[in-house]
Formats: sequence, C-alpha cells, structure tokens
Amino acid sequence: MDSPEPRLADVEYLEVQCKSALNPVKGMGFNWSLNPYTGCEHRCAFCYVRAFELRADRPSDDRYGRAIRVKINVAGVLRSELSRKSWHRETVVIGAATDPYQPAEGRYKLTRQCLQVLRDFSNPSGMITRGPMIVRDLDVLTDLARRANLHITFSIPTVDDEVWRRTEPGTAHPRQRLRAIEKLVAAGIDVGVGMAPILPGLSDRPDRIEAVIKAARAAGATGLWAGMLHLKDGTREHFMSVLAKHWPELVPRYERAYLGRAYLPPAFGEPTLKAVSRLRVLHGVSDRRQVVLKPPPEPEQLSLLYKHVIEKEGEKLAVCLLVDSGKLYRFPYEDTKGIRGLEVKARYLRGEMEHLRLREFQPGLCRYVERAGQAV
Ligand code: SF4
Repeated sequence: MDSPEPRLADVEYLEVQCKSALNPVKGMGFNWSLNPYTGCEHRCAFCYVRAFELRADRPSDDRYGRAIRVKINVAGVLRSELSRKSWHRETVVIGAATDPYQPAEGRYKLTRQCLQVLRDFSNPSGMITRGPMIVRDLDVLTDLARRANLHITFSIPTVDDEVWRRTEPGTAHPRQRLRAIEKLVAAGIDVGVGMAPILPGLSDRPDRIEAVIKAARAAGATGLWAGMLHLKDGTREHFMSVLAKHWPELVPRYERAYLGRAYLPPAFGEPTLKAVSRLRVLHGVSDRRQVVLKPPPEPEQLSLLYKHVIEKEGEKLAVCLLVDSGKLYRFPYEDTKGIRGLEVKARYLRGEMEHLRLREFQPGLCRYVERAGQAV
C-alpha cells in the first residue's frame, strides 16, 4: 500500500535562523553540502544521522525526527555565500544529512528556494532524497540542469513492502519514488538510484536485490550504486531495537557481524556488492535518456573584454565593456559595484585591456551588461 509521506501529528517545527548555509564536508566525493532542515521526519531505522544526533546530545532513539529545525533564512544566506568572490562554483549537494523533501518542505519550500538560488548562480548541484515531492520542483530543476551540472540520487534500498514499512516508516513507498524518477528522467534530468543501506539478512537476498535493479532500469535511472549498512553508536541502538521487535531471529547474526565495529567486514558485504555490480550490468542500468539537459559549454561569446575606466579629475565616471559579439557598452561606474569582481578589476586594471571570463562573475552578467549598459 502506498504511503503519501504524511506529516506526523506529534512533529514539532522549530523555526531558526542559520548563520551559514553551506557546510564543508570531507570524504563524501563532494566538498559542500546544504541542509535546509535539521532532523528528518522520515525516521529511518538505519539513519546514520542518529549517530550525529547522539554526539550532539540530542535524541537518537524513537524521539528522533519529531522536532525539525527549519532554517527559514537558508536561501538568503546561500545567496550571500554564492555571491562571495572567494566562491569558486564547487558542487553543492542538498540533503546529505536530512531529506530535503521531507514533509516540512511541503509547507516551507526551502529546498525549492535553495534550488532557485543555485539556478540563478548556475552552480553545479547534487541532491539526495527519498521524497517524490521533488516532482513539484521540476520547473526549477530543469532550469538548473540547463545551466549547470545536476545529479540527483534517489535512495531506494529495497522495494520489499515489509522491509520498507518497518525500516523507513516515514518515507513514501518505493514505487512512488520510482515514478518520480521516471518523470525527472523523462524531462532530461540525470537521476540515479542509491541502493543504500542494504540490510544483511533482509534486503541482501538475491531476489530482492534484483527486484530493485530491475525497477531502477524500468524507471530509467541513469545509474545505480549500493552500500551496506553501517551501525555507529546512536544508529546502532535504535536499529537493533527495531530488529529485535520485527526480526528477533536476526539479532545474533547482527551482533556477530557488527561486534566492536560500525562497518561490516568486507567478507560479509563484498559478495552482495559484487552481485549488485553484476546485475546492474546484466539489466543495463545506464544513462539512456532520450532528452538530456546539460549546461552549454562556456562559449567565447559569453566572455567580456574589459575596456577601460573613464576617469576625470580622479573621479571614476564609467566602465566600458566589450561583449564578444562586438558591441561596446558603457556603465556608470557606480552601477558596477554590484557586479562581483568587476569593480575590483576595474580598480586595478585601469586603462588596460583584460579578457574576463563570465564564470568569474555572477551568472547572467553578459545579459545584465546588455540590458543595463548603454551601447556606444
Ligand atoms: S530519509 Fe535519510 S536523513 Fe531522513 S531519516 Fe531516512 S536516512 Fe535519515
């Protein structure tokens, strides 16, 4: 039976102001993450965030996911951070620590706002989610994918009803996620499946693994990766309590496998991961999109030639810019102050010709120049 990701009656939303939107991360294949919410109503039994919560002295047990901190100013803060001259348009991944399409997003739309900012800055982006609510934002996602690299990972560790219901109690049914993948891929967006975490004795059965891979293929997923369950303190206690309640016969096996360690020894997990690789190739899970949205290469015509600053008696009057199309535009000097980097360049490169690439500045600069400048 499908579940529409209901908001729990006893979930509290705490609106907070954040000081920063981007978090530096290590060892995850990307350097920056962004989470509009802290805490996750999906309350997966295996959620690795429970371990962070324990370390932060917050509840990691049954109470996890019942108080969601909502960073109501996150999009504005993100905009300021992406405007900084020191920002080099590195990939930002939304949702590495909480689901960006958990029920709170239906009310607050913070993920949508952050996507709009990433789109405005043509910033390479990624997203990890279990929430089919993502299709609501198809318009922003397609715009973003036309301007910058965008990759979405849909987490689908299993399509087995019983395992899903007992281990991912707040999430939408895997079939709803697969339908969302279908829609996004049909629109040209790069969407893969993250088959994680695979639970020993539950979702690692060969028939269950194959069912996920076949479903991912049928939905048009552009790729698939898999990972085994990790049990760090905080996650371990809660997951083991769920296991004891629903599958008590598996408790001794888990206690042996995870004795004194958070990660499964290779001998336990590798055969499963190898089976996933083999089946992924067998069933042909690969990028087969009919429509492919991708950013244009940065063409020469999007570059600007800095011409010079006109000065009269020490007062800067105007900046002249030559767009590659051959047109020359003149700006009141004051108007260039909002253009990141340009004002600084103007100050130091006075009177010299300098070739400036658009990517060094705010996206849309050429269009801005053409709109706001005076053609001369
Ligand atoms: S959806 Fe992700 S972040 Fe949310 S509870 Fe599940 S594993 Fe944790």
